Amino acid sequence: MTAAVAAAAHLDDCHLCPFHCGAARAAAAGVCRVGRTSYIASEMLHMGEEELLRPAHAIFFSGCTATCSFCTAARFAFRPTYGVAVTPAQLAARVLQRQAEGARSLCFIGGDPAPHIPFILATLAELGARRTVPAVFNSNFYLTDVALDLLTGAIDIYLPDLKFGPATGPASCGEAIGGMPDYWNVVTGCIQRVHAAGGRLVVRHLLMPGHLECCTRPVLTWLAALSGVAVSLLTQYQAPAHARGSLAAALAPDEIAAAEELAAALKLTLVK
Ligand code: SF4
Ligand SMILES: [Zn+2]
Repeated sequence: MTAAVAAAAHLDDCHLCPFHCGAARAAAAGVCRVGRTSYIASEMLHMGEEELLRPAHAIFFSGCTATCSFCTAARFAFRPTYGVAVTPAQLAARVLQRQAEGARSLCFIGGDPAPHIPFILATLAELGARRTVPAVFNSNFYLTDVALDLLTGAIDIYLPDLKFGPATGPASCGEAIGGMPDYWNVVTGCIQRVHAAGGRLVVRHLLMPGHLECCTRPVLTWLAALSGVAVSLLTQYQAPAHARGSLAAALAPDEIAAAEELAAALKLTLVK
């Protein structure tokens, strides 16, 4: 059985993320509310990604497994039927077009791409050897081992977002802000697994106002112990109108400076 065929089973009985929605997926009644059809909010040649990826052919899928309270992509992240539904063959044709236009990477983004793994693998199978740029999985990495197994061999570069710190329980940042129970164990476990298997990783960390001690410090300290991992510090936090508490503020220059000093002290390999 090919990975694309194995992945398709999750359209009826989904275990691609730790919510394990099972058969609810087929009725679009899982936590992410992504059904059997993948909707694409937008796709473009994108200059905002890290230097090694750009220009990236960025494909933004609708729907997400997280519910971050400060999401700036809520328009499509929390509306899984936003945008257009295309077939893997149609998306493959667009990928080839973007490749011809100069794309240096093919980035699957969201929302989150996890619910769309069946569609992504079908698209990559359709492309076959016609794809000449690396396939990138840019995700919150709130994944199951099954999902990681499906991606192995299909994805060339993993771009996890390690956002929240190690606290657990309903009041932890990962659960209270991101809506992901057991966030730290799941996401660091997935990163560790890819790292141990020799996968190529660039780990992103978004600096959030007021989260230096609970999130940024433990995240960067943990990453420093993972040899050879490139880290991308994202400093462009923008509070959406619906943000509350410290997350409604702007990121202060001294918070950015403190994070950069910490990254330097930890000798992290930073990429821009
Ligand atoms: S990807 Fe969506 S449907 Fe599948 S287990 Fe996660 S939340 Fe549920
Ligand atoms: Zn925090």
